[in-house]
This record gives sequence, C-alpha cells and structure tokens, in this order.
Amino acid sequence: MRRYNVTTFGCQMNAHDSERIKGMLEELGLGEAPRLEDADLIVFNTCTIREKAESRLAAHLGLAKALKDADPGRLLAVGGCFAEVQREHLFEQFPQVDFAFGPGSIAELGEWLKAERNGARGSFGSGGERRFAAELPFRRERPFQAWVQVSMGCNSVCSYCIVPTVRGKQISRPAEKVLAEVRALAADGVREITLLGQNVNSYGRDLPAAERVTFAELLRSCDRVDGVERIRFTSPHPKDFRSDLIAAMAECESVCEHAHLPAQSGSSRILKAMRRTYDRERFLSLAAEMRERIPDLALTTDLIVGFPGETGEDFEQTLSLVEQAAFDGAYTFVYSPRYDTEAASLPDQVPEEVKRERIERLIELVQSIAGERNRARIGSTEQVLVEGPSRTDETLLRGRTRRNTTVNFAGTAKAGELAEVRVENATSTTLRGAQVVSSPA
Ligand code: SF4
Repeated sequence: MRRYNVTTFGCQMNAHDSERIKGMLEELGLGEAPRLEDADLIVFNTCTIREKAESRLAAHLGLAKALKDADPGRLLAVGGCFAEVQREHLFEQFPQVDFAFGPGSIAELGEWLKAERNGARGSFGSGGERRFAAELPFRRERPFQAWVQVSMGCNSVCSYCIVPTVRGKQISRPAEKVLAEVRALAADGVREITLLGQNVNSYGRDLPAAERVTFAELLRSCDRVDGVERIRFTSPHPKDFRSDLIAAMAECESVCEHAHLPAQSGSSRILKAMRRTYDRERFLSLAAEMRERIPDLALTTDLIVGFPGETGEDFEQTLSLVEQAAFDGAYTFVYSPRYDTEAASLPDQVPEEVKRERIERLIELVQSIAGERNRARIGSTEQVLVEGPSRTDETLLRGRTRRNTTVNFAGTAKAGELAEVRVENATSTTLRGAQVVSSPA
C-alpha cells in the first residue's frame, strides 16, 4: 500500500477533514497519487447536504468499482456525512467499499489501515466517541493558509438540515487548544487562518463554565497572535451574531471585512417553518448594523428556493431581501428533501419546474447586485493574498482581497505574499487588475 488519493465533496469542514486524512495517511508512510487510477487506497470524503452531492458520489463509486475490478488489491474507504447517514446500508448498497467512517471518527481509518495490513475488510468505524479531526496530523493544500476547527456538530434544529444528524451535537474545542494551534501555524509561516464550525459563532457555549470563552473573545485572542495577517471564520448563524462579535470584527485588525451570513429566505413565514429562529426584520437590522459598524464590509449569504409551502409571495420576499441587504455574493440552492429531516415530510412540496424558475430569477438578481458592487471597486487598490496562477489566464496571478473577492491580476508577486492590486475591471464574482509595484523608498 504505497499511494492514496482523497476526493473531497461538500463544505469547508470536509476540506479541513481531508487535509487531516492526508496528514494521517502520510504519517503511515503513504504518498499522494494525484490521479485516482494511480492510487492503492481510494478515499472519498463525502457530503449529504443535498441530493446533488449524492448523485456525484454515486458516479465516483461506480468508477472506483471499475478500478477495483481491474485491480482487486486496491482499497476503497468512504468517510464523511454520506457514510454516516448510510451507515446501516452502505456495504449492501456499495459492496466495493472496504471501510467506512463518520466525520467524528477519521482516526479510525488509520487504525483500520494498520489492521488491514493484516487482512480486515468491510467494516464501519466503531463510531465511538467523536474526536476532533483537528487532533490528527495534517497536510495543508497551501502552506500560507490554514483551516482551524473550533467546534464540531450543531445544536440548531433547522428543519431542512441533516448536519445535526450526521455530525451530532455541538462540541467546542478548548480555547487553549485552538490558540496553541494558531500560534503553531503562525510560527510555521501561515498568514491566513479560517476558523471553522458548523455554527461557528455559538462557539464556547458548551464548554465547562470555568473554561467558557465566547467566539468574540476567541477571535480577539487569535488577533493577538503575531504573524497571523488575516482571520476569517465560517459558518456563522444570524441568531448568534451579537454586538460583541460585531465589535470584535470592527476592532481586530487581522479580522477580514467579510461575513458570510446565511439568510436562507426573505419570508418570515418560511424562516419560521425552517426553524431559523430569526425573522426577516431581525436579519435586515443585523445586516444593517454590521455594515454600519464594520467599514467596507462584504456580506455574502446562503439562500434556498422552493422550501415546502413557499408561495410566490414568499419568494418575492426573498428577492426583496436580496435587494435590501445588497449582498456582495450568495450561494443559492434549490430545496432538496433530506433523510429524516422535518421539512422532508412537510406538505406543499414545491414542483420542480417552479423551483427551477425561481432559482434562475434569484441567481440573476444576486449576480446583478454583486456585479454592481464589484464594479464600484474599479479604481480602488486592494490588498490581495496571492494564492497562485490564475485559473482562467495563465499570464495572470490569482488571489483574494480581505473582502474575500477573487482577483486575477498581472504582477510579479509570489504565492503566499500580500500584494497591492489596482482594480481595473470586475464581474459579478471576480475582480481584475494589476499589481501596484511600490517604488523603493
Ligand atoms: S445551523 Fe442549521 S443549517 Fe447550519 S448546520 Fe446547524 S442545523 Fe444545519
């Protein structure tokens, strides 16, 4: 067993977990095979948040079966949320799978591999006590950027969401462990950290009273760590966005001027059915307060269309929320019923053609507003963390502003460096520009 290949599906938490899976496998002496067909061990780190994620996985599992038929010595392990939710039927449904593990038991893949070398197959990790992937070694995608897990699981009960079922109740990592990791990362040359949690801003509530730290306090502590230039966090919940967090964002120099604030809908009636625990007015006043107190803030969101019972009027409310909040960007989704979620058995499921018509109108509006806001940056100079060559034009470089906008630009900076870029053009999702070469003093 010499080489592995990890395919990641889904969210940033899975991206983080995959870096840990790779770190663990490399500690066991395996090397990475860039291509699936060159791997002795194939690992799929899966997602089950929407139907689409599962159909993508099914295609990958089919390909893995063909590769295993061609080489029976090859192994296939499936982890993440789909594995967790399908724990009872996975091997029956996909007999090509040799080992499976949940998002809270990644370490068991390593233990199984050691055992496998002596011949054990077709088992699911015991799924015993959930353990933080953050305790495992890692192999980072980029040496200058890092995910830092601050909690796992979620205590919210959004009626459409399967996360609490697959990732369990919220457990926060002790603040000292998070800070120790941030200090080590900074010492290792990491310039940008992203604090990760399913509901990152409810961090700390479950910690023992003596150790309890709020997310705002944690953010301030991370801001005091030398060497960290930029701090981001995801994914927050509007109900937990309080004035102490807004103040920390406004006052901490390294905390970037970007907040991802999932609204999900603009209709208070639908928000109630989603069990989001805030209404339209509360969301809009929160967005206004954040824009007022955090200069130059970029606000992005998540929006679902076609939630059961959504009327034309409800959908119009979502459109008007987008206009009023003037988002800098949005992830838009068509409602997809999930196993054992409350919403899946609600009446008045919206017909597919109506969902499609609504998502098209929503995307059009989101893009027109985001385009307008990006065009307003033309002529400005942005600080960009260079990530590497542009994906669309090899003569250009690519990076991200503090407002989390992708910039493709002409320049000489290296990956991992901070560059000043003058914005010359914009689309609804990216900026284009040229590096401002500062003249030597
Ligand atoms: S806050 Fe709601 S949508 Fe987000 S992970 Fe928790 S239950 Fe799911």
